[in-house]
Amino acid sequence: MTTIETKLGWDVFKLGAEAHIIIDQEVCQSVCQMRPCLHVCPADLYTLNDQEEVQVDYEGCLECGTCLISCPHNALTWHYPGGGSGVQYRFG
Ligand code: SF4
Ligand code: SF4
Repeated sequence: MTTIETKLGWDVFKLGAEAHIIIDQEVCQSVCQMRPCLHVCPADLYTLNDQEEVQVDYEGCLECGTCLISCPHNALTWHYPGGGSGVQYRFG
């Protein structure tokens, strides 16, 4: 059976000139305790760095919008990658 990791490996990602997801660290640090973004991304792109700050590897984004709607404090600025960049799905 084909795993989700294998299927994600088939997709092609073209890097945009700038990040299409911006995190407001001040909001995250000051009010968010549950940090749902660390758990909802289907590609597991959200992690904590050495300073316990949330970071996102936007280059592998599937453009599903789950992180945006799951952030309870509107700490994310999210838009689709610029023309020609972002994910290209292969085989559905
Ligand atoms: S859910 Fe939103 S506010 Fe909470 S850590 Fe993630 S981006 Fe920051
Ligand atoms: S839009 Fe989807 S794939 Fe992209 S970072 Fe957010 S949850 Fe992950």
